Amino acid sequence: MQVLGKNLIGNTESSEGTVGIQAINPASGEPIGPLFFKATLSELDLAVHKANAAFAIYRKKSGAEKAQFLEAVATEIEALGDELIERYVAESALPMGRAQGERGRTCGQLRLFASLLKEGSWVNAIVDTAQPDRQPLPKCDLRAMERPLGPVGVFGASNFPLAFSVAGGDTTSALAAGCPVVFKGHPSHLGTSELIGRAILAAAEKTNMPDGVFSLVFDDSIEIGQALVKHPLIKAIGFTGSFRGGKSLFDAAAARPEPIPVYAEMGSINPVFILPKTLQEKGDSLASAYMNSVTLGVGQFCTNPGLLVIEKNDDFVGKLESVSVDAVGGNMLNKGIQSVYHKGVEEFQKYAKVVNFGKKSEGFTAAQPVIFKADYQTFNDNDALKEEVFGPSSLVVEASSKAEMLEVARTMSGHLTASVFGSPDELAEYADLIELLEQKVGRLIFNGFPTGVEVTHAMVHGGPFPATTDSRSTSVGTMAITRFTRPVCFQDMPDTLLPAELQNENSLGIWRKVNGNLEK
Ligand code: NAP
Repeated sequence: MQVLGKNLIGNTESSEGTVGIQAINPASGEPIGPLFFKATLSELDLAVHKANAAFAIYRKKSGAEKAQFLEAVATEIEALGDELIERYVAESALPMGRAQGERGRTCGQLRLFASLLKEGSWVNAIVDTAQPDRQPLPKCDLRAMERPLGPVGVFGASNFPLAFSVAGGDTTSALAAGCPVVFKGHPSHLGTSELIGRAILAAAEKTNMPDGVFSLVFDDSIEIGQALVKHPLIKAIGFTGSFRGGKSLFDAAAARPEPIPVYAEMGSINPVFILPKTLQEKGDSLASAYMNSVTLGVGQFCTNPGLLVIEKNDDFVGKLESVSVDAVGGNMLNKGIQSVYHKGVEEFQKYAKVVNFGKKSEGFTAAQPVIFKADYQTFNDNDALKEEVFGPSSLVVEASSKAEMLEVARTMSGHLTASVFGSPDELAEYADLIELLEQKVGRLIFNGFPTGVEVTHAMVHGGPFPATTDSRSTSVGTMAITRFTRPVCFQDMPDTLLPAELQNENSLGIWRKVNGNLEK
C-alpha cells in the first residue's frame, strides 16, 4: 500500500485543500514525502454526513459482524508489513522494536474487542418481565441494554502512532459499540496514519460495512478539530494528548447547543511512593528500575513516573545520582514536544535541585534525561513542581515524616496512576496513604512502576480531573466500549421487534439480568 497524502472521506480519497502539511523525521529534521493537504471544512462536513448515513446501517450490524470487521482491520494492519514499521520509525524516531510491539498491541486490542462482541454480554441486557396481575396496579414489561450513540470524533496522540491513534483504543471501542468514526489524524505521523486509515477501509469493504463507517482527515492547526467537535451530527469525542487541547475540546463540546460527552485523557505525573523499609532494603535495584521507567520511550508516556515520594534517604539519592548519569535520552516525537520539554526542565531548575543529568544525545529533537530533588516544603510551596514535564525527567520529593508523605497524597490532583512500593506489613501500616491514593487515580499499582499498560477487561486508564475530563471511564481495555453507548429501555415492546439481546429466547446465549438474577 502506498502513502499518497490523501484525506480519506469514507471510501473516497480527497485533497481539495491547498494548504500543505509535511511529515518530518524527528531524528534528522528532514521532510518525508508526499505532501499532505489540510482537510477543508467541506471535506470534514462530507465525512461527518457520510458517518451519519453509515450509522443507520452500522448500528444494526450484529456483534458477530462487527467482530469480523475488527478482526479484518487487524489482518489488514499486519499485511502492511515492513512499510508500516519503516514509516512509523521515520516519523516518530522511536525504535523498530517499539513499532513492532505497538503494532502487536494494536492488533491484539482489535481482536480483544472482537472477542467481547462475539461473546455479547457487554450490552448489559436487563429484563424485568411484566406482572399483569400485580395489585394494586399491573407492572409493565421493561427491557434495557446499551445502544450506540452515533458518529464519534476521535483525536490521536503523538506518542503512540498506532495504539492511541487511527486504529487505537478510542477508534476500536467506538466501532465495537456500533459508532462510525471520523478521525483527526495527528500531524506528527501523517503517513503512518494514512496507511492505517487505508487498512481500516480495506477491512470495511471486505466485511461489507457501509461507506462512511470510517473517515480520516488531516490538519496541523486546530481548525478542523474544533469544527469536528462542534459538528451537530457528532455525538461524542475521544481524545488523547495535552491538557490544553483536551480541555479546549471539552469546553467547545459543552458550549454546543447540544452538549456531547468528551473523553479526554490529558496526562498525569503518576506519583510513586516508596515506603521507608522497602527503600532501605531494595534502594539499589529500585533506583535503576525507576530510571528505566523515567527514560523509557524518551519519557513520552502518559504513565511516565514524574514524581517519586520517599522519606529522606541519602543513600538512595546517592544511588540515583550514579545511575542517572548513565541514563540515555534520544530524539523526541517532534520539535514542539522537545521545546515544551526544555521549557519544563528550565522551570524546574528555578525551584528544585538537579540530582543529575543523563547522557546528551545527538539529533534534531534530542532530549537529555534529568532527575530533580526537592524537600517536601519546597514542593508544597511551588505549584510549578506539580506540573507534568512530558519527557525523560522526574522529581524526587524528600519527606521528613509519614505525615508529609500523606500530605503529598492528600493535596495532589487527579492522576492516571499511583504506585506504592512496600512489603505486605508495611503496606498495611500505610493503609491511610493507600486509601487517599485510591481517591485520586484510576489505577493503583503495588510494587511496580506505572509504564506498561495492559490491554485487558479490567484495565482502567483514566482518573479524576485533570488526568481526564471524565473519571468514570477508561481509554484502554474493553470497559471503554460504554464511552460510546447509552442505555435504552424498551417498555412493552413486542418480542419480535426487540433487539435479539432482549428477546425472550436469548438466541445469542448472553448473560442477562432477568428479574434481578444473572442468567443465560
Ligand atoms: P496535543 O497537542 O494535545 O494534540 C493532540 C491532537 O489534538 C492533535 O491532533 C491536535 O491537532 C489536536 N488538538 C490539540 N489542541 C486542540 C484544540 N485546541 N482544538 C482542536 N484540536 C486540538 O498533543 P500531542 O501533540 O500529542 O502532544 C503535545 C503535548 O501533549 C505533549 O508535550 C504532552 O505534554 C502532552 N501529551 C499528553 C499525552 C497523554 O498521555 N495524555 C500524550 C501525548 C502528549 P493539531 O496538532 O493539528 O493542532
